[in-house]
Amino acid sequence: MRAVVMVAPGDVRVDETERPRIVEPTDAILKITAACICGSDLWPYRGADAVDHRPMGHEYVGVVAEIGSAVTTLAVGDFVVGTFISSDNTCEICQAGYQTHCVHRGPGADPGAQADYARIPNADGTLVATPGVPDPELIPSLLAASDVLGTGWFAAVAAEAGPGRTVAVVGDGAVGLMGVLAAKQLGAERIIAMSRHADRQALARSFGATDIVEERGDAGVERIKELTGGLGAHSTIEAVGTQESMMQAIHATRAGGHVGYVGVSHDVALPGRELFYSGVHLHGGPAPVRRFLPELIRLIWDREIDPGKVFDLTLPIEDAAEGYRAMDERRATKVLLTL
Ligand SMILES: [Zn+2]
Repeated sequence: MRAVVMVAPGDVRVDETERPRIVEPTDAILKITAACICGSDLWPYRGADAVDHRPMGHEYVGVVAEIGSAVTTLAVGDFVVGTFISSDNTCEICQAGYQTHCVHRGPGADPGAQADYARIPNADGTLVATPGVPDPELIPSLLAASDVLGTGWFAAVAAEAGPGRTVAVVGDGAVGLMGVLAAKQLGAERIIAMSRHADRQALARSFGATDIVEERGDAGVERIKELTGGLGAHSTIEAVGTQESMMQAIHATRAGGHVGYVGVSHDVALPGRELFYSGVHLHGGPAPVRRFLPELIRLIWDREIDPGKVFDLTLPIEDAAEGYRAMDERRATKVLLTL
């Protein structure tokens, strides 16, 4: 089968590899229908994380091709959405809604989802079947639910976005844009997207942003304060993962407000004294997308939301290297790979 491998930073290839097999009785094998390239895949691509012949991909939708003997809720032929961490969905941590921290957590798609087939551990807990075979036009949105939408949604929930709230969003990548959509769905009154790219500003507005702030850092924080009567946002979504973006999020939030942070942290060090005097709540980490999947699938199935608009480049898997280049050079916000 075909599989995308990152040989070294900047070097992505499509290899012929062995199709994965059932290992545990709780596994399923998926025939992947579509996968995507994640903003977090750019960290190793740019050399910020170590990488050596890594099978790539953790966002996927597909059809169940095979199930282990202990799988009870899925059948061969089911169309399913999975997430980037596998979970049993039954332990105390899962039941509390934190499936990414499941006591039996593992990779969501082994060895990678940018491939014809993948093994999904803990299939009953990890995969959610759609009500039927989706129309092709729904596939991008269902794929978005697998990670970026679920992650943006968690960020909005962690930031306590809701009616009467002003939500600021730091980061105009796919997750930040999905955070805008989530904040809108959760009833936020005002949504301020921080972006200096015209195409992403337009997308943010289409997902529900009411204001755009182009300034960054301290100047960006000043603009948010100006827009909120000098107080700062009630809720801030941090979707980048750098020191600058995290501090921008904390400083843009009013005392008593909430920061939902989902950008994968890279060398972020929080100054304790500043944090102490900020009076803001911080909550985030790897998003428990599984918690939200049934509701997100319903919203997509009923055509109440259209998160698939976030994909601005679709390529066959053979052209994966071009997809990585396009995201690296910011020519594309989010790339969908077809199989
Ligand atoms: Zn669990």
